[in-house]
Amino acid sequence: MKDYLVRGLVNKRNCRVFACTTKDLVNVAREKHDLWPCASAALGRLMSATLMMGAMNKSNDKLTVSLNGGGPIGTVLVTTHCDGKIKGFVGDPHVHYTYNDTGKLAVGVCVGRDGYLQVIRDMGLKEPITSQVPLQTGEIGDDLAYYFSASEQVPSVVSLGVLVGEDNVVKSAGGFIIQLLPEATDDDITFIENKLKDFPAVSQLLDEGKSPEEIMTMLFGDEVEFLETQDLFFECDCSKDKFSGALTTVPDEQLDAMINEDHGAEIKCQFCGKTYHFSEDELKEIKANKHA
Ligand SMILES: [Zn+2]
Repeated sequence: MKDYLVRGLVNKRNCRVFACTTKDLVNVAREKHDLWPCASAALGRLMSATLMMGAMNKSNDKLTVSLNGGGPIGTVLVTTHCDGKIKGFVGDPHVHYTYNDTGKLAVGVCVGRDGYLQVIRDMGLKEPITSQVPLQTGEIGDDLAYYFSASEQVPSVVSLGVLVGEDNVVKSAGGFIIQLLPEATDDDITFIENKLKDFPAVSQLLDEGKSPEEIMTMLFGDEVEFLETQDLFFECDCSKDKFSGALTTVPDEQLDAMINEDHGAEIKCQFCGKTYHFSEDELKEIKANKHA
């Protein structure tokens, strides 16, 4: 099953739904960043959720979601242009904790809860719109549900999951978001709450080969109407040109040190790990252009 998301509507229950499978793109991130299982889970959950948030807007705004709860993983940050492509990284890819009682990956421990979830929407206007909420559990799904209700006033269910195999390869990843429409009644809320009681983990369902549509149908039967699907990819838009541009903002003294002492520079893209080499001559040219 390739990576994709589906957007749907459940008119009878006054809610809209998003569901996705993201195993391949989380595996791409794992390879690029050498993620250990808990880091795969944290980044995979945040990428899955952010891709679904991207599908909530119609325009190709730049959406950046990050969190830092003071835990050992540091910052987890992902960016999408709401076009199904995403890139992201974690502060420390080599973190691994499991809960003693369940043996499950302890994402909440890796992330911590002493900090914020931040959402930045850049719509090409003068200033991007930034909103942030305090982290609730650091498990990411709970934190996003809190964000939707506190910051966007949209009561939401957020279920995210990443299953990692013995060999550290991601076996399944994805999730779903259910958002109540303003017309939703107490009955609709009770219906959804009851459905979610004892509902299997989304990573388990995906691992069994269930599609996003099948998972939504398990919840809503044939009341769910699927409107649109979108293919999903991990893709970084970095290039040597972009880093040349970034180097023009570096102070002259630092450029001089790169030229005269290091005789070149290696710049690594934090989103995808790709390294760009700049020779002494290229750096001299950048410095000259800066003052042209
Ligand atoms: Zn890159």
